[in-house]
Amino acid sequence: MATQGFTTAIVHGDSAFGVEHGGVHKPIHTSVQYGFEKVEDLIGVFQGTVKGGFNYARQGTPTTAALEAKITKMEDGVGSICFATGMGAICGIFLTLLRAGDHLLASQYVFGNTNSIFGTLRGLGIEVTTVDVTDAANVAAAIQPNTRMVFVETIANPGTQIPDLAAIGALCKAQGLVYVVDNTITSPLLFKPKTVDASLVVNALTKTIAGHGSALGGSVTDTGIFDWQAYPHIADAYRKGDARQWGLTQIRKKGLRDMGASLSSEHAHQIAVGAETMALRVAYSSALAMELAQFLEAHPAVVKVHYPMLDSHPQHARAKAHFSAGSWLLSFELADADACLAFINRLQIPIKATGLADTRTLIIPVAPTIFWEAGAEVRAKMGIADGLIRLSVGLEDRADLLADFAQALA
Ligand SMILES: *Cc1c(COP(=O)(O)O)cnc(C)c1O
Repeated sequence: MATQGFTTAIVHGDSAFGVEHGGVHKPIHTSVQYGFEKVEDLIGVFQGTVKGGFNYARQGTPTTAALEAKITKMEDGVGSICFATGMGAICGIFLTLLRAGDHLLASQYVFGNTNSIFGTLRGLGIEVTTVDVTDAANVAAAIQPNTRMVFVETIANPGTQIPDLAAIGALCKAQGLVYVVDNTITSPLLFKPKTVDASLVVNALTKTIAGHGSALGGSVTDTGIFDWQAYPHIADAYRKGDARQWGLTQIRKKGLRDMGASLSSEHAHQIAVGAETMALRVAYSSALAMELAQFLEAHPAVVKVHYPMLDSHPQHARAKAHFSAGSWLLSFELADADACLAFINRLQIPIKATGLADTRTLIIPVAPTIFWEAGAEVRAKMGIADGLIRLSVGLEDRADLLADFAQALA
């Protein structure tokens, strides 16, 4: 059969698992324990010689495994692991693959909580340097003998900066560094980090993939590109079988089994249902975000709009080259920064809330909320102006949303 399109593959994905009674969804498996006829099979699951077996839900269930298979397909990877949250997935990578004395080189434009975990890593003796990744030369210049990993976001939240994804990928490949790409804002629909030689791909499933603001989840996908045989920190116990799975095995054993940020079957099911309409949602909200970005850019009360598909975006050419649309994320600054809160209060439709990729449009002033704890210095380095407003465009009717912004700016 010819390769299927994104949605065809997702909505028919569960049938590949031989779903019981012909049900079209993978059932919600609620068992914590999994029993076996013969104790040898139980031992085999523990020792990894029985493939695809389950023993305790902290390491996965048939329902989370079905979601993992879908995400692997979306990202064209060799395997995925689901976590309870996007932060669980990110910590799962950092804490299982890095050790004291290692160096993590990261984008200076990252999600606030990712920036916060960098501080935690420093406390554990892991060096973290953040650089302006929009120019790969900054990454090349910051590589040290103890650098193990490079971390970037495809479209940075909230500033929408876009790293030199391909050049950083080539650099990591040449130097044997693990290249971690957080694909949350673009999602595998708009961009596949494998095309720029990413080693591991992170998705906060909470956002685009689940899409309704009603379930938390995260995932790590291995693209199959990185050579784990050359990575010094893979424990002997996990240096077995297909070497492309070694990294994921260590992340599952240490990150899920030991640290326990495990996704429940109930939420895995909810995320899987959300994923079925993802292509439709992203196409609609990206088109609406583009229209809103153009409207805001043309409005005299607005000084700056950050949206990758605008000609005025500093990395516009890169966005066009890599991404099939600009996503639902945009941010902007009013000419009168002091008027920002009153403007937000005048809006009738967007919900004043943090969060991203809901069906509802969400709006938040960034500096006094998400980046408040980070402080003024970090905000300045991340390009976050005091009056920056972040918008996650939802699925409301176009005319309603445009009219609401027009009245609130008037
Ligand atoms: C939301 C988000 C995360 C964290 O996801 P949670 O599920 O909220 O823990 C990580 N990276 C990016 C880019 C995000 O937007």
